[in-house]
Amino acid sequence: MKIEKIVTVPITCHGRTRRGIVKITTDDGFVGYGEVGETASEQLGPIMTDRWSRLIVGKNPLNTEKILRELWAGSLFAGRGGGALLSALSGVDFALVDLKGKILGIPGYQVVGGGFRSRIRIYQDTAGGPDAATYARNALEAKQKGFDAIKFDLDVSFGERRAKYGYDPYNETVTNEELSLMVSKVDAIREAIGYEMDLAIDLHGRYNTVSGIKIAQTLEPFKLMWLEEPVPPENVDAMREVKMSTSTPICCGENLYFKWGFRDLLAKQAADIIMPDIAQVGGIVEGKRIADLADMYYIPVAPHNNCGPLATIAQAHLCAAIPNFHILEWHGARVQDWDKIVKWDGPVINKGGINLPNRPGLGYELNEKEILRRDPDAEDLFT
Ligand SMILES: [Mg+2]
Repeated sequence: MKIEKIVTVPITCHGRTRRGIVKITTDDGFVGYGEVGETASEQLGPIMTDRWSRLIVGKNPLNTEKILRELWAGSLFAGRGGGALLSALSGVDFALVDLKGKILGIPGYQVVGGGFRSRIRIYQDTAGGPDAATYARNALEAKQKGFDAIKFDLDVSFGERRAKYGYDPYNETVTNEELSLMVSKVDAIREAIGYEMDLAIDLHGRYNTVSGIKIAQTLEPFKLMWLEEPVPPENVDAMREVKMSTSTPICCGENLYFKWGFRDLLAKQAADIIMPDIAQVGGIVEGKRIADLADMYYIPVAPHNNCGPLATIAQAHLCAAIPNFHILEWHGARVQDWDKIVKWDGPVINKGGINLPNRPGLGYELNEKEILRRDPDAEDLFT
């Protein structure tokens, strides 16, 4: 059996956002689909899969790791260290795992070692708002939808620092005004949802080390599930300094790529929880390696995920296949279209979790009629 063709077609599948769908076909008529993550969807996904088709076509589709290794090795001068190229590579990985599962008649999580669980716990990335009351209202709404964990952004953004508060946006020191604002919002959230529901807070690497420490220590009474990227991701030692200073768990890793990106972070135990984005680190196969490395240090894995439905389901398969899975992110609260695009048993996100079916491959089927209604040029996905 040989791979005959690979194409990438951008489709509208996550609200108004278009995501590249990779389709890999074999000469025996098997088809695997994967979604390219946000950073590469429109441009780089199609370009790279076109370039990579020379390395893929004619290969045995069951040699997944060898194929991915060759794509990675052949991309040294194209920027394989991270970013958009790895999103494209992850989309190819998803399609290969889908394909291999279908050929072997096993679900995707069994392609990479087998299932520890079939229901994947999800936390909702939840919108904040202009004031603490809106944070509280949105938190309660998520709880009522069945989520037992949520995340809010709490940093004052670069633009807002100057426009709204008159701060120098390049100065990454948290002010007392900012700190009080943060406390009032988290306090309102906890007041609304109580302490049994898990709550994570994201700071987007906005602050310097002393500020990261101050924020983490100030938020200790709220018993967060984690504080995310209190300092920028590049300096592992700074992250470790924050981690060692506080009882608030520190989580990071959404901006790190491949296993090498996690090497120092894990070896120095600079985070309590890691959050590789499986649609950016190189896919399910590489995600498994990263999770195994984290397991050596007893560090749980909570994948970052702002993907559309196909890549979210793909990430869920990895979450099923690792012992140290903690929780998976979901960024789709404000999009209503997943269940039109993907044929699934019930809604994809079901009362705060994803139930993975025991079907071959990644278990999804594209809704051809709906996709072609939105994107008439997408017929390459179905011919
Ligand atoms: Mg984040």
